[in-house]
Amino acid sequence: MKVDILASGSAGNCIALTTAGKTILIDAGIAKTKIEKRLLEVAIRPDSITAIFITHAHGDHTKGLPLANKYGIPVYATVGEWKGISGVDERLRRTLETRYGDYEPSYLGGVTVYPFHTHHDSYEPVGYAIEPDIGPRACVVFDTGKLDNDMLAMMEGSIYIIEANHDRDMVAESNYPDSVKARVLSDLGHLSNEQTAAALTELIRGSGEQIYLTHLSSSNNMPTLAEATVKAALRRKGFLEGTHYHLEVV
Ligand SMILES: [Zn+2]
Ligand SMILES: [Zn+2]
Repeated sequence: MKVDILASGSAGNCIALTTAGKTILIDAGIAKTKIEKRLLEVAIRPDSITAIFITHAHGDHTKGLPLANKYGIPVYATVGEWKGISGVDERLRRTLETRYGDYEPSYLGGVTVYPFHTHHDSYEPVGYAIEPDIGPRACVVFDTGKLDNDMLAMMEGSIYIIEANHDRDMVAESNYPDSVKARVLSDLGHLSNEQTAAALTELIRGSGEQIYLTHLSSSNNMPTLAEATVKAALRRKGFLEGTHYHLEVV
């Protein structure tokens, strides 16, 4: 699977996953023209995108959705999140359906996308596991205030694209209003470096898994800090970066 992180952070998030001859975008949170430019930089033609899957309707995940209309790309989102998304042509809207509380997977020919519930202050946010018929699977977990066991079960695989949003102390000491601090730190906010590190110690088996730490806060985190926190947690489990797993902070 080819992973291209086209954008990551509070200014916008967009990931291109290419596998089984298909490219899928997870979120489109930067301007359409920027997505087009960055796709071309990694040798992907915008008109070759198979589908866009949206985690939730916040602007840093949906700003570039006019891309879908321009190239006729189907857009998948939950019933709840569609309430917060406008401007996508009716013919391109696809709704992720649930059955007994779990989401139905979307089969796109050679690759299946499994949505799963996340915890964030939007209507019905999800993360995604992307699984080709042959080859490694990937999971994408952006904005979520916590990780539960159902999520961990869905995430298990070999490529982890996961939020490491903030350092709790930096948030507490920041000049954010108390209401914003509380929101970020709540179960419906964002993952701290420590939360992400704890989840990865559950998930990593030391088989060379690839980790991408994403959606870092520009004011309440530092790439070196996020990296050090995750590496220290995994070292305690006996796993070394470069030997047992690979880590990239985006
Ligand atoms: Zn959000
Ligand atoms: Zn976000």
